[in-house]
Amino acid sequence: RPEHDTALALFDASVRRAPDAVLIRYFDGALTVREADEAANALAAALADDGFAPGDRLALFTQNNPAYVIGLIAAWKAGGTAVSINPMNRARELNYLLADSGATALLALDELYAEVARDVIADGGTAVRTVVTTSALDWQNRDDPRLFGSAERRDEGVRDLADLVARPTRRMAATPKPSDPAVLTYTSGTTGIPKGAINTHRNLVFNAQTYRDWIGLGETDTILGIAPLFHITGLVGHVMLALLLPAPLVLSHRFQPAVMLDAIREHQPTFTIGAITAFTALAGVPEASREDFASLTAVYSGGAAIAPAVAESLENQLGIQVHNAYGLTETSSPSHCVPRGVRAPVDPASGALSVGVPVFNTVVRVLDEAGAEVPAGQIGELATSGPQVVPGYWNKPDATAESLPGGELRTGDVGFMDEHGWFYVVDRKKDMINAAGYKVWPREVEDVLYTHPAVRETAVVGVPDPYRGETVKAYVSLNPGASASAPDLVAYAKERMAAYKYPRIVEFLDEIPKNASGKILRRELRDRSPENPVSERKPG
Ligand code: ATP
Repeated sequence: RPEHDTALALFDASVRRAPDAVLIRYFDGALTVREADEAANALAAALADDGFAPGDRLALFTQNNPAYVIGLIAAWKAGGTAVSINPMNRARELNYLLADSGATALLALDELYAEVARDVIADGGTAVRTVVTTSALDWQNRDDPRLFGSAERRDEGVRDLADLVARPTRRMAATPKPSDPAVLTYTSGTTGIPKGAINTHRNLVFNAQTYRDWIGLGETDTILGIAPLFHITGLVGHVMLALLLPAPLVLSHRFQPAVMLDAIREHQPTFTIGAITAFTALAGVPEASREDFASLTAVYSGGAAIAPAVAESLENQLGIQVHNAYGLTETSSPSHCVPRGVRAPVDPASGALSVGVPVFNTVVRVLDEAGAEVPAGQIGELATSGPQVVPGYWNKPDATAESLPGGELRTGDVGFMDEHGWFYVVDRKKDMINAAGYKVWPREVEDVLYTHPAVRETAVVGVPDPYRGETVKAYVSLNPGASASAPDLVAYAKERMAAYKYPRIVEFLDEIPKNASGKILRRELRDRSPENPVSERKPG
């Protein structure tokens, strides 16, 4: 049961219990719970003075900066909803998100305002009338102690967060309801246009507690902010958890492996959750050693499958045991987790690492095409219900009815439960490859390629083929200094899997493309592969 009615009540409890606890560590700066409360009061009061009313939306367009956390709390204090926006978005995307959410206020990082948001707002296609900017501390200039820097040049009418925070202000306290939207978290659109999942207060409180109680975390822990805060993993697995415990959250502007390694050395975090690709990138920092990671006793990865071979090599190289967590934006972060310290089983048939078991009060059914439940061991679509499942998408009743019939989420993921209750995600339904009538799940092929010592990262997609309809293609990046040819990898895979599964084409890339949360973008690869007639190939 959620212990607090709302995310705001959850934070207020921490303000009362531990006002002097550190909430955020940002390079050499620290912000206590009380300071965060006061800063959020200042921003909320400024919003209210500008006519921001209960139910209104405040868009947050920052990197992993303290301002994001302040903006989130301020939106709730003003009775409104925060809208999380990926800082990689450019004008067209930002315009869509601001218009779709109907945000009337925007908190933006100076550079993102100047480069992207200013023109979007000037074009008049959005309802934004209040703009507050903030400048991030420059991570290369470690002597600068500012948490909220001031812009050097500012447009008229644009407020500055540092100015607002410096002024004495009144306490703000709206009383949202548990079912009110706390945050609109946009799906990244890897499978269509971005939709604003409505994470209610109840959803967020429940899954913050889930992380705390499932993993066994407390106020003596320190959270390493590896995931982007705009993404559901960062929002719940970093920010909500830090507000609940309360415990320090280490932020470092954005994910850069060497900077992150410095933050680990300096702040000795105990817990983190991020994309598996982030851990692979940390392992690739030349000066990274096992000692650096000794403080991290609870490491989780979510958002994409973990290849067993990658988990094994991270354990050998860095000494960290990466636990699986599975969920979607629509489940407000985890619906399944592996218990801490437990080694999850690998399915002998498909080679998949289990994503764990459903978390508290969560029911997951495996459904066939007709929507009927299938027995243990059989694959089907995973359908999830529980206190963390969103009630729907913002202003999208059709999409809501399709994805959440009767309040149960159709995940779009194919998976199964074994006889002991462990769950496995086979792959995304939409990523299945149909090679001459045979179903090939890319993840299984990737898992095999990852066991090759030269392979650093891989993404497997289906590409058009005149004989087989579709054929299996692997994009591969190699470990530094390693060598393997395309025929080597084809032969390696052929030896280890059925004839219809192994990749017929291998293409090498220096880097496999990923989105801001570190997720490998299979669709982008599929669209741009030269075998695909619709790919935009440069002449010559
Ligand atoms: P969109 O929904 O627009 O395609 P997205 O893929 O970024 O965007 P998220 O909600 O971030 O949306 O990702 C959820 C998906 O990530 C799941 O449906 C599943 O396919 C995958 N996923 C998440 N965690 C795991 C995991 N531990 N193992 C395997 N797959 C996972």
